[in-house]
Amino acid sequence: MNGKTILIVDDSSTMRRIITRELEEAGYTVLAAENGMEALVMIEWMDKNPDLITLDIDMPVMNGFEVCERLLEKQKQRGDKQQTRIPIVFVSANDTLENRRRGFQLEVTDFISKPFKQNDIVKMVNKILFPQEQFPGMTALVIDDSFSVRRIISMILRRIGITVLNAANGLEGLKTIENFPGTLDLIITDYMMPEMRGDEFCKLIRQNPILDQVPLFVVSAFDDLDLLLSLFKSGATDYLHKPFIEEELLARVEIHLRARQYINQVEKLNKKLAHLASRDGLTTLYNRRYFQEALDREFTSAIRHHLELSCILIDLDFFKKINDSCGHAFGDLVLQEFATILSTRSRESDICARYGGEEFIVLLPHTNLESALLFAEEIRSSLELHVFKDTEHRRQISCSIGVASLQDHTPINEDKLVNMADKALYDAKKLGRNQVRRYSAEK
Ligand code: GH3
Ligand code: MG
Ligand code: MG
Repeated sequence: MNGKTILIVDDSSTMRRIITRELEEAGYTVLAAENGMEALVMIEWMDKNPDLITLDIDMPVMNGFEVCERLLEKQKQRGDKQQTRIPIVFVSANDTLENRRRGFQLEVTDFISKPFKQNDIVKMVNKILFPQEQFPGMTALVIDDSFSVRRIISMILRRIGITVLNAANGLEGLKTIENFPGTLDLIITDYMMPEMRGDEFCKLIRQNPILDQVPLFVVSAFDDLDLLLSLFKSGATDYLHKPFIEEELLARVEIHLRARQYINQVEKLNKKLAHLASRDGLTTLYNRRYFQEALDREFTSAIRHHLELSCILIDLDFFKKINDSCGHAFGDLVLQEFATILSTRSRESDICARYGGEEFIVLLPHTNLESALLFAEEIRSSLELHVFKDTEHRRQISCSIGVASLQDHTPINEDKLVNMADKALYDAKKLGRNQVRRYSAEK
């Protein structure tokens, strides 16, 4: 429980049930009324006002607008200050422009249209009641030579959960950025400052590749068009005219930070997709497509810088028998455990991939033939000793490995390097399996 009480006012019992469940799951205490009149009576009898009301518009007995009017009247009678007003969110199927306009005139905080998506209500209520949790993990830098302006802006930003760094001028701001280990999400700078003007500061910020996308606000008491143009041309994202009110600053900051949150999410998702696209689903080793790209890159780099590069190709021996005798699922388990053996024994710079069904390939940058043979032998012997088991089966299996190296075998291109390892693997199979062979040109 988070200690906040929400009053739900809706004539549909299904709707009351849905909203109650979502809000209770999010930790709120929920009360419900089935029309406006009942809601007003409940509020009258409560020891303490609810922290927020979700209000349907079209209801029998008394509609949502009337409830708002009555509440406003009562607050006026009591001479309540702004702070004691109960935030109201309209939740209505009748979400027209006219209704929104009427609602905002009656000081409704926000609107949600029915049907709403799961979590919409909780998100909105959280935003209103826990503003400090809106931008977790975001950091802003506030630059102003006036201590009191810095303090006011910082206070407003901290209220919506932003961590704030301060600087008294542009130079100090640049130093703060240099020393800050993370990435900034917002910069708000004064225009008229000693050392450096706001537009000069913007230009310097935009030259920094890490900060070229950061929202950058300039605050100034001047607002002639030339100044504004020069600010935007210097890379400012937004402009605030001094003196400004808290709501304007918050509204502007929110727009930019929401966009930033969205971009961060998309970037995270892109990374996840790139990761998935490069991996084999069963073993989570790199897949063949990724291996091919890495091979191309590493081969070119090794040739250019005269570096060592080795390739080992591994094929499990008589793997079909495992499938046939223990089932496909056990075969899968063998492949997964072998992948673990491979990745735990390889170095960070090695590229281990599943090359085909029960065929694996490892590219070893900066590794000569002798070292590659040692590594291959280590894999072969660890596999030989490993016992694969589940509740029903216990099996051991061996593998055959072919090794080829750039400096020793001088393949003319990257595909030839793999072909040479494949030829060596073929030799290993032919000579009785469970062994490591180096490439030999002989037939
Ligand atoms: P050899 O020693 O000559 O390599 O014999 P082998 O039985 O290992 O080789 P073969 O190519 O005849 O058979 C490989 C088997 O691997 C056939 C195929 O069904 C199985 N296989 C391929 N991919 C998977 C997989 O993802 N899961 C399982 N369980 N089996 C697979
Ligand atoms: Mg095999
Ligand atoms: Mg095979």
